[in-house]
Amino acid sequence: MDIVDGNALAGTLSQLFAFEATEARARCNNCGHIAELGELVVYLNPASSTGRCRSCGHVLLVFVQADGRRFVNFTGMGAIEF
Ligand SMILES: [Zn+2]
Repeated sequence: MDIVDGNALAGTLSQLFAFEATEARARCNNCGHIAELGELVVYLNPASSTGRCRSCGHVLLVFVQADGRRFVNFTGMGAIEF
């Protein structure tokens, strides 16, 4: 096994993030509900938007925009299937 930095994943990451994300399916870490990201209940805000599980309301993802940068947190969901 070779140990290298994240640049070794450049090709894989570019393929992973070039998909229709709203059709990707994710599992809620709270209740186990599995659904497409397009089915989330979203609370839109110009600076920060939250996507919640349609089944239990658990926060699955959070987008934040600040100082011209974007951040996303997926800690509320399990692996994403696409
Ligand atoms: Zn849930």
